[in-house]
Amino acid sequence: MQYPLKDSAGVHFVTDWAGTTNFSMRRPNFVVLHHTAQNSCDQTVKTFTTTSTQVSAHYVICRDGSVHHMLNDLLRAHHAGVSKWGNNTDLNSSSIGIEIDNNGFELFSDAQLASLIDLLGRLKRAYNIPAANFIGHADVAPGRKVDPSRFFPWKQLAEKGFGLWYDTAHTQIPPDFNAVQALRIIGYNISDSITAIQSFKIHFNPADTINKLTSSDKKIIADLVKKYQ
Ligand SMILES: [Zn+2]
Repeated sequence: MQYPLKDSAGVHFVTDWAGTTNFSMRRPNFVVLHHTAQNSCDQTVKTFTTTSTQVSAHYVICRDGSVHHMLNDLLRAHHAGVSKWGNNTDLNSSSIGIEIDNNGFELFSDAQLASLIDLLGRLKRAYNIPAANFIGHADVAPGRKVDPSRFFPWKQLAEKGFGLWYDTAHTQIPPDFNAVQALRIIGYNISDSITAIQSFKIHFNPADTINKLTSSDKKIIADLVKKYQ
Protein backbone atom coordinates (compact mmCIF):
# COMPACT_ATOMS: atom_id res chain seq x y z
CA MET A 1 0.00 0.00 0.00
CA GLN A 2 1.36 3.42 -0.91
CA TYR A 3 0.62 6.54 1.11
CA PRO A 4 1.94 10.10 1.23
CA LEU A 5 4.03 11.41 4.16
CA LYS A 6 5.61 14.72 5.05
CA ASP A 7 9.03 14.94 6.63
CA SER A 8 9.98 17.47 9.32
CA ALA A 9 10.95 20.03 6.62
CA GLY A 10 7.48 19.68 5.05
CA VAL A 11 8.76 17.74 2.02
CA HIS A 12 6.18 15.32 0.64
CA PHE A 13 7.17 11.80 -0.28
CA VAL A 14 5.44 8.52 -0.92
CA THR A 15 6.30 5.38 0.95
CA ASP A 16 5.28 1.75 0.78
CA TRP A 17 3.83 0.21 3.91
CA ALA A 18 4.59 -3.49 4.12
CA GLY A 19 4.01 -4.47 7.73
CA THR A 20 6.34 -6.92 9.42
CA THR A 21 5.31 -9.06 12.35
CA ASN A 22 8.90 -9.45 13.56
CA PHE A 23 9.39 -6.84 16.27
CA SER A 24 9.49 -6.21 20.00
CA MET A 25 9.60 -3.20 22.31
CA ARG A 26 12.89 -1.31 22.47
CA ARG A 27 15.11 -2.26 25.40
CA PRO A 28 16.90 0.25 27.60
CA ASN A 29 20.68 -0.08 27.41
CA PHE A 30 21.79 2.57 29.93
CA VAL A 31 20.86 3.57 33.46
CA VAL A 32 21.27 7.25 34.38
CA LEU A 33 21.36 8.04 38.10
CA HIS A 34 20.27 11.34 39.61
CA HIS A 35 19.76 12.98 42.96
CA THR A 36 16.50 14.85 43.19
CA ALA A 37 17.89 18.09 44.69
CA GLN A 38 14.62 18.22 46.63
CA ASN A 39 13.87 17.74 50.29
CA SER A 40 11.38 14.89 50.23
CA CYS A 41 10.15 12.01 48.16
CA ASP A 42 6.61 13.37 48.28
CA GLN A 43 7.82 16.58 46.69
CA THR A 44 9.59 14.64 43.90
CA VAL A 45 6.66 12.33 43.19
CA LYS A 46 4.44 15.41 42.97
CA THR A 47 6.85 17.08 40.53
CA PHE A 48 6.86 14.00 38.31
CA THR A 49 3.09 13.62 38.27
CA THR A 50 2.40 17.26 37.43
CA THR A 51 2.00 17.68 33.67
CA SER A 52 3.31 21.24 33.57
CA THR A 53 6.79 20.23 34.80
CA GLN A 54 7.38 17.93 31.79
CA VAL A 55 9.94 15.99 33.85
CA SER A 56 9.84 12.41 35.02
CA ALA A 57 11.93 9.36 35.85
CA HIS A 58 11.24 5.64 35.83
CA TYR A 59 12.02 5.21 39.52
CA VAL A 60 12.28 7.36 42.65
CA ILE A 61 14.08 5.94 45.68
CA CYS A 62 13.19 7.54 49.01
CA ARG A 63 15.47 7.96 52.03
CA ASP A 64 13.71 5.09 53.84
CA GLY A 65 14.51 2.75 50.91
CA SER A 66 11.00 2.66 49.47
CA VAL A 67 10.89 2.66 45.67
CA HIS A 68 8.27 4.36 43.52
CA HIS A 69 8.05 2.83 40.03
CA MET A 70 6.64 5.72 37.99
CA LEU A 71 6.92 4.65 34.36
CA ASN A 72 7.20 1.36 32.47
CA ASP A 73 10.88 0.64 31.74
CA LEU A 74 10.17 0.40 28.01
CA LEU A 75 8.81 3.92 27.73
CA ARG A 76 10.82 7.13 27.43
CA ALA A 77 10.99 9.31 30.55
CA HIS A 78 12.12 12.94 30.57
CA HIS A 79 15.06 12.79 32.97
CA ALA A 80 18.33 13.37 31.10
CA GLY A 81 17.48 16.41 28.95
CA VAL A 82 20.18 17.53 26.51
CA SER A 83 22.74 14.80 26.97
CA LYS A 84 25.63 13.02 25.31
CA TRP A 85 27.69 9.96 26.20
CA GLY A 86 30.06 8.64 23.53
CA ASN A 87 28.11 8.78 20.29
CA ASN A 88 24.80 8.54 22.11
CA THR A 89 23.12 11.95 21.84
CA ASP A 90 19.70 11.15 23.30
CA LEU A 91 20.02 9.33 26.60
CA ASN A 92 16.31 9.68 27.33
CA SER A 93 15.60 7.32 24.42
CA SER A 94 18.04 4.64 25.51
CA SER A 95 18.11 4.80 29.29
CA ILE A 96 16.24 4.18 32.50
CA GLY A 97 16.27 7.19 34.83
CA ILE A 98 16.49 6.68 38.58
CA GLU A 99 16.06 9.63 40.94
CA ILE A 100 17.45 9.23 44.43
CA ASP A 101 15.88 11.46 47.07
CA ASN A 102 18.77 13.61 48.27
CA ASN A 103 19.30 17.36 48.40
CA GLY A 104 22.85 17.16 47.05
CA PHE A 105 24.58 18.19 50.29
CA GLU A 106 24.16 15.01 52.34
CA LEU A 107 25.09 11.34 52.38
CA PHE A 108 22.80 8.79 50.75
CA SER A 109 21.10 6.55 53.31
CA ASP A 110 22.00 2.87 53.72
CA ALA A 111 18.38 1.82 53.12
CA GLN A 112 18.33 3.86 49.93
CA LEU A 113 21.56 2.35 48.62
CA ALA A 114 20.38 -1.19 49.45
CA SER A 115 17.19 -0.59 47.46
CA LEU A 116 19.16 0.99 44.63
CA ILE A 117 21.53 -2.00 44.39
CA ASP A 118 18.56 -4.42 44.32
CA LEU A 119 16.87 -2.39 41.60
CA LEU A 120 20.03 -2.08 39.51
CA GLY A 121 20.57 -5.84 39.73
CA ARG A 122 17.07 -6.47 38.47
CA LEU A 123 17.47 -4.00 35.59
CA LYS A 124 20.88 -5.34 34.64
CA ARG A 125 19.55 -8.89 34.43
CA ALA A 126 16.29 -7.95 32.69
CA TYR A 127 17.88 -5.88 29.92
CA ASN A 128 21.44 -7.20 29.86
CA ILE A 129 22.87 -3.72 30.49
CA PRO A 130 26.70 -3.64 30.44
CA ALA A 131 28.43 -2.56 33.68
CA ALA A 132 29.97 0.45 31.87
CA ASN A 133 26.51 1.79 31.02
CA PHE A 134 25.53 2.68 34.59
CA ILE A 135 26.34 6.39 34.63
CA GLY A 136 25.36 9.67 36.26
CA HIS A 137 23.46 12.69 35.01
CA ALA A 138 26.61 14.82 35.45
CA ASP A 139 28.50 12.38 33.21
CA VAL A 140 26.10 12.91 30.30
CA ALA A 141 25.43 16.64 30.81
CA PRO A 142 28.74 18.29 31.84
CA GLY A 143 28.41 21.90 32.95
CA ARG A 144 24.63 21.62 33.12
CA LYS A 145 24.21 18.96 35.80
CA VAL A 146 26.19 17.86 38.87
CA ASP A 147 24.08 14.93 40.05
CA PRO A 148 24.39 12.51 41.65
CA SER A 149 26.59 14.59 43.95
CA ARG A 150 30.12 13.99 45.20
CA PHE A 151 28.57 12.06 48.09
CA PHE A 152 27.41 9.29 45.76
CA PRO A 153 29.40 6.05 46.35
CA TRP A 154 30.28 5.11 42.75
CA LYS A 155 33.19 2.91 43.88
CA GLN A 156 30.87 0.82 46.05
CA LEU A 157 28.46 0.44 43.13
CA ALA A 158 31.23 -0.51 40.70
CA GLU A 159 32.30 -3.28 43.10
CA LYS A 160 28.77 -4.69 42.67
CA GLY A 161 28.94 -4.49 38.85
CA PHE A 162 27.24 -1.14 38.23
CA GLY A 163 29.65 1.27 36.57
CA LEU A 164 33.41 0.82 36.28
CA TRP A 165 36.19 1.79 38.66
CA TYR A 166 39.94 2.14 38.37
CA ASP A 167 42.99 0.48 39.80
CA THR A 168 46.09 2.61 39.33
CA ALA A 169 48.51 0.46 41.35
CA HIS A 170 50.44 -0.53 38.20
CA THR A 171 49.32 2.22 35.81
CA GLN A 172 51.95 4.18 33.90
CA ILE A 173 50.92 7.35 32.07
CA PRO A 174 51.98 6.87 28.41
CA PRO A 175 54.47 9.59 27.32
CA ASP A 176 52.18 11.10 24.65
CA PHE A 177 49.00 10.67 26.72
CA ASN A 178 46.21 13.17 25.97
CA ALA A 179 43.97 12.96 29.03
CA VAL A 180 41.15 15.09 27.59
CA GLN A 181 40.95 12.96 24.44
CA ALA A 182 40.90 9.93 26.72
CA LEU A 183 37.92 11.44 28.57
CA ARG A 184 36.18 11.58 25.16
CA ILE A 185 36.92 7.89 24.57
CA ILE A 186 35.49 7.06 28.01
CA GLY A 187 32.28 8.82 26.93
CA TYR A 188 32.47 12.44 28.11
CA ASN A 189 31.43 15.30 25.85
CA ILE A 190 34.67 17.33 25.73
CA SER A 191 33.32 20.26 23.70
CA ASP A 192 34.12 22.23 26.89
CA SER A 193 37.10 20.49 28.45
CA ILE A 194 36.72 22.28 31.82
CA THR A 195 33.18 21.04 32.41
CA ALA A 196 34.15 17.57 31.14
CA ILE A 197 36.91 17.52 33.78
CA GLN A 198 34.43 18.70 36.41
CA SER A 199 32.04 15.84 35.61
CA PHE A 200 34.89 13.33 35.59
CA LYS A 201 35.99 14.54 39.05
CA ILE A 202 32.46 14.40 40.51
CA HIS A 203 32.31 10.73 39.53
CA PHE A 204 35.88 9.45 39.92
CA ASN A 205 37.74 11.87 42.22
CA PRO A 206 34.99 13.55 44.25
CA ALA A 207 37.25 14.93 47.01
CA ASP A 208 39.00 17.21 44.50
CA THR A 209 36.89 20.20 43.51
CA ILE A 210 39.47 21.94 41.30
CA ASN A 211 38.73 21.48 37.61
CA LYS A 212 42.30 20.74 36.59
CA LEU A 213 43.81 17.34 35.87
CA THR A 214 46.59 16.34 38.26
CA SER A 215 49.02 13.50 37.60
CA SER A 216 46.89 11.19 39.77
CA ASP A 217 43.81 12.11 37.69
CA LYS A 218 45.77 11.29 34.55
CA LYS A 219 46.64 7.89 35.99
CA ILE A 220 42.98 7.26 36.78
CA ILE A 221 41.99 8.26 33.23
CA ALA A 222 44.77 6.15 31.69
CA ASP A 223 43.39 3.12 33.54
CA LEU A 224 39.72 3.90 32.86
CA VAL A 225 40.20 4.45 29.13
CA LYS A 226 41.39 0.85 28.79
CA LYS A 227 38.25 -0.36 30.57
CA TYR A 228 35.70 1.82 28.78
CA GLN A 229 36.92 1.55 25.18
ZN1 LIG B 1 19.49 14.73 37.21
